[in-house]
Amino acid sequence: MGSPDVLIIGGGIIGLSIARRLAMDGVSVEIFDRQQPGMEASWAAAGMLAPQMEVEGPGPFLDLCLWSRDLYLDFVKGLQEDSGISIPYNAEGMVSIALTEEDETGLRERYAWQKRAGLPVEWLSAPAIRERVPTVTSDLRGGLFFPGHHRLDHRQIIRALLVDLQKRGVKTSWGVAAHSILVQRSKAIGVETSQGSRCVGKVVVAAGSWSSQLQYPNEEIRPKVRPIRGQVVSVEYRGAPFPYSLFSSVGYLVPRSDGQMLLGTTVEEVGYDKSTTVSGIQKILSGAMRLIPSISDCSITEAWAGLRPRSDDFLPVLGASSVENLYFATGHFRNGILLTPATAEILGELIRMGRSSFPIETFQMDRWRRHALASRIAL
Ligand SMILES: Cc1cc2nc3c(=O)[nH]c(=O)nc-3n(C[C@H](O)[C@H](O)[C@H](O)COP(=O)(O)OP(=O)(O)OC[C@H]3O[C@@H](n4cnc5c(N)ncnc54)[C@H](O)[C@@H]3O)c2cc1C
Repeated sequence: MGSPDVLIIGGGIIGLSIARRLAMDGVSVEIFDRQQPGMEASWAAAGMLAPQMEVEGPGPFLDLCLWSRDLYLDFVKGLQEDSGISIPYNAEGMVSIALTEEDETGLRERYAWQKRAGLPVEWLSAPAIRERVPTVTSDLRGGLFFPGHHRLDHRQIIRALLVDLQKRGVKTSWGVAAHSILVQRSKAIGVETSQGSRCVGKVVVAAGSWSSQLQYPNEEIRPKVRPIRGQVVSVEYRGAPFPYSLFSSVGYLVPRSDGQMLLGTTVEEVGYDKSTTVSGIQKILSGAMRLIPSISDCSITEAWAGLRPRSDDFLPVLGASSVENLYFATGHFRNGILLTPATAEILGELIRMGRSSFPIETFQMDRWRRHALASRIAL
């Protein structure tokens, strides 16, 4: 077998879904990961698709998040059919709860701009929330209902993507680490790996929080991405069931189809340390008990932590770079599961056709250079 057309560095949900997208269009792809695939942030996530809680106002990022959410049902349907693996998907919505006066002010502002933008959102009184979620605390001030927020079992997506890639004959190399991008005359020609150098037509960096750790031919194209730890606790929920995920300033609760409830999370800048800590778990549990007091009786089944890849401006890094044939799909921070289908579509189109039908200027690597240039001109 000769060199593939495209080499993808990183087998998280982002790299795997780009590989599937390209393989569906007949592009020859190889994907590799320094360990077993899908075991980093993509495994650690909570599986919420919550575009209207993650974005602070209208603009390109909201458009990207909404578009990706809209792509999800077809993405899941196609992946289930192709892989034979079922992917539990819940479209019942999310309730975001105001516990304090400050929370209420923030949520009412969110309600106002989202209504103006024509987004589906409802204000719920405290009794209306208690009717929907009988076990919720009585000490609340109301909140928002987002009917368009969904959730899914993202670990099943990873399992399904792996089966699908195998069926499509995509070459996968696990246990192979990328060290540096090989460049000749401003053009990427391959990757230096722990198993020697690999020549290839195009390279996609999808190495999550580690994308900044590779050696690049110049600093300008090193993605400004760093790891932000998030811890999660899973409990066996025994209270009256409710179909929504709950969001608040003290944490979130995500019911799973298997009876588990995921409790999250922390947002910590501690480098590449993936430990679960006493203070992190304590914060999550006390937040969860503040929302649903009866959580205190549930047994803890698991706790874990993952590293969210966060860029300097909190936006993903998508698309081509100043080095020909070198592409990026990283920096998805808290929304990598949500943004998976859109990222796969964008990278698929760029690699096959050299353009994306979704506008990606805001997310391109050269935005930092453009901003630096604009601020020099303004001086
Ligand atoms: C606690 C937590 C909760 C979250 N909840 C949600 C949520 O509810 N909804 C949502 O949309 N998002 C959520 N996220 C964010 C989401 O998980 C991430 O944005 C997403 O998983 C990023 O995917 P990725 O493939 O880019 O990175 P990763 O999953 O981290 O994958 C990167 C891969 O690259 C590999 N790699 C690294 N360096 C190299 C190298 N040198 N050579 C080869 N391979 C390499 C790694 O081994 C890894 O497998 C959450 C994240 C966390 C931590």
